[in-house]
Amino acid sequence: MEGAERCENTVLSTREEACYSLHGLELKALGYNCFGVEFSFMAIKNIIFDMDGVLYRGETAIPGAGEAVAELRKKGMRVFFFTNNAEKTRKQFVERLNSFGVFAKEEEVYTTSYGAAVYIKKNLPGKKVFAFSSGTIEELKGHGIPILLTKNAEVVVAGLDLELNYGKLADAFQAINSGAAFIATNEDNSYPVEDAILPGAGAIVAALSSTTGVKPVLIGKPEPYLLDIMIKEHKLRKEETLMVGDRLQTDILMASREGLHSALVLSGISTRKEIEECGLAPDYVLDSVAELPGILKKQKG
Ligand SMILES: [Mg+2]
Repeated sequence: MEGAERCENTVLSTREEACYSLHGLELKALGYNCFGVEFSFMAIKNIIFDMDGVLYRGETAIPGAGEAVAELRKKGMRVFFFTNNAEKTRKQFVERLNSFGVFAKEEEVYTTSYGAAVYIKKNLPGKKVFAFSSGTIEELKGHGIPILLTKNAEVVVAGLDLELNYGKLADAFQAINSGAAFIATNEDNSYPVEDAILPGAGAIVAALSSTTGVKPVLIGKPEPYLLDIMIKEHKLRKEETLMVGDRLQTDILMASREGLHSALVLSGISTRKEIEECGLAPDYVLDSVAELPGILKKQKG
């Protein structure tokens, strides 16, 4: 029931159902679609990696993640990093990835705080913004967006904030009640660390939306806003792009809705059992991102 509730917005097609009943997930994991025909990974030119739960958990790298990303680059793949987490700036995420042995450039990293900055510049230019985490505040400032951390703000950007306190919630609540635009970086209900699952940005967003009655504009996965920015900036073709994520309800749902190939890794949030409950069918199910180059090699060879 829990899984069914989480996946209430997902749709299982007849073709996907046939796939489960005829061949099952293991066959898909080996690289076959529901008719037993090998997927052509010759078409994959771009790989988008979700970060938390895929490349690292908390302060620990997923073993083999850095090597896998490097090998895919060597094969000529374009690599991108895409996170719903707005707690850090793009530059800080580059440093974080590098510290885990994953080489990344700033223009390859897409965060929901960057997406929020693009949204505000386009739709709410010059408005004074209240944002939760220091990373989001810094990212917005970097784009010349005025910050006002009081109840008089004209825009509220809610996201994961590890230094959340009641005063921040109260200011954001009052700002929204006075008519401020309400933006949520994401609504992930959980946040994976080394040996535990912690409450995610969704806890803060839900606190504000349930108390104000206002529904936020959502920047991150599964909504396509941030993905569309990336696709436009790098001129990507969706049919040549693989999304690698650990969460069915965001990474895989967005890939499915937007026509991207998808690979679910089991090193983060979602489990194999939840795939069955959800009815979402990722093209690949892998224990870890470290397996990805091997799968692609198999397809190419
Ligand atoms: Mg994740």
